[in-house]
Amino acid sequence: MSGSDILQSGDRAGDPSPGGTITSLHFDPTAPLLDVQELRVDFHTHEGVAHAVNGVSFSLEAGRTLGILGESGCGKSVTAQAIMGILDTPPAKVVGGKVLLSGVDLLTLNEDDRRRVRANRIGMVFQDALSALNPVFTVGWQLGEQFRQHRGLKRAEARVEAIRLLDMVGIPAAAERVDDFPHQFSGGMRQRVMIAMALALDPDVVIADEPTTALDVTVQAQIMKLLADLQAERNMGLILITHDIGVVADVADDICVMYAGREVEKADVYSIYESPAHPYTKALLESIPRIDMKGKQLASIQGLPPNLTRIPPGCAFHPRCGFARGRCREETPPLYTVAPGRLSACHFFEEVLDA
Ligand code: SF4
Repeated sequence: MSGSDILQSGDRAGDPSPGGTITSLHFDPTAPLLDVQELRVDFHTHEGVAHAVNGVSFSLEAGRTLGILGESGCGKSVTAQAIMGILDTPPAKVVGGKVLLSGVDLLTLNEDDRRRVRANRIGMVFQDALSALNPVFTVGWQLGEQFRQHRGLKRAEARVEAIRLLDMVGIPAAAERVDDFPHQFSGGMRQRVMIAMALALDPDVVIADEPTTALDVTVQAQIMKLLADLQAERNMGLILITHDIGVVADVADDICVMYAGREVEKADVYSIYESPAHPYTKALLESIPRIDMKGKQLASIQGLPPNLTRIPPGCAFHPRCGFARGRCREETPPLYTVAPGRLSACHFFEEVLDA
């Protein structure tokens, strides 16, 4: 589907329009593909309100890969779920911001239109394919369902599409495996099926949330290569969410590092790896093995991420930061411009760059 398309509720065969209401979404091909502005998501918990995503902004163009990086609980998966419109509400609630897809703010759409946008324009690859796939239907039926529901294909035609997709993601003997159930596939092959599901209707954007975490290292590399190849071939925008800075190194163009619900550093991948401008990014980098650090001991980040109902005052990273001083405990750092296109939420980013 091109960015200039108009997606109409109920205008495709097999795509019912509940209530008979016809709404049109005008996607602007000149607008950024995905533009997230000041997104805020709160969770209402028995401990109080957790600010899980606290003013996150980024944009993504066709053919680019953005890595969103951070430890568990930093808000990266919640950001993805808010973009997709699949947050559990309650306890989660989007309390501010915009999610513009080719100029259309997805946060303003009704559930019916959100579902159509999800099916046609944004695909998602989840971490746990076994939970995401329905165990009682064959993978071919589940893949074909998208074509039956959203493209109006007949059962036999949808099956042909399912085989084509399985073949595309490298499932050997796709025509024979199409009638297998999810549990009959290995972990790596199931993740390939998930990628096929996400790409079925040729989306403009794919969000992959920890797509390789449950897999062994060799299979991880194969899955990342598959995602990168398909992204380049189809000129999609890809958001890769991970806690593992090593996973994004080879495939991301840009990286957004998150901590305690906020972005703390944004830059192109080379700048991040060569000279991180935030102590948290620097600590993440020092905690992974690198060829140029041969013989040096790996560091670990002291302490734990904060409870999001009690985020420390000032810079949220100060209790764990080796560069911290008095100002950090009182003054929340804004996103400083380090260089054109480079941002860091650290009062002392120049010192970090020189360290
Ligand atoms: Fe560390 Fe202070 Fe920079 Fe926060 S603002 S990252 S505490 S030096």
